[in-house]
Amino acid sequence: MADATTEPLLTPTTDDDGAPFWTYAARGELRIQACTACGELRFPPRPCCPHCQSFASDWRRMSGRGRIWSYVFPHPPLLPAYAARAPYNAIIVELAEAPRIRLVGNLVATPDGELDSVAPERLRIGAKVQVVFVDVGGTVVPRWLLERP
Ligand code: ZN
Repeated sequence: MADATTEPLLTPTTDDDGAPFWTYAARGELRIQACTACGELRFPPRPCCPHCQSFASDWRRMSGRGRIWSYVFPHPPLLPAYAARAPYNAIIVELAEAPRIRLVGNLVATPDGELDSVAPERLRIGAKVQVVFVDVGGTVVPRWLLERP
């Protein structure tokens, strides 16, 4: 197990409901759980639809486009592995297809860019972003690029 005090937290904690998200991410696909009874998307993944209480679901592929809904720049005190990277951004993205579905991630200048590769003054609420998938230490995670860099 990674030492959280010195190494970044890379491995997502998965369960039966959330595992498909990471399986699709590893293929470069952003998919969100959808109810097959009423069609509503839901995130985070869970067994039962909060709209109609159905347990039937599948995973719908998203365009990967969205907008920055909010953002922060974490500053120390942070875990040592993150303090060395600060200040970096953490953004919340609302998906184009479902604005009430919001994902937390990082905005980067290029798919393999560092977490601080976008200047803080470039971030603004409402900016259009596009997902990219990046292998970080063996785990493929979604990150975000500005549509208009
Ligand atoms: Zn439903």
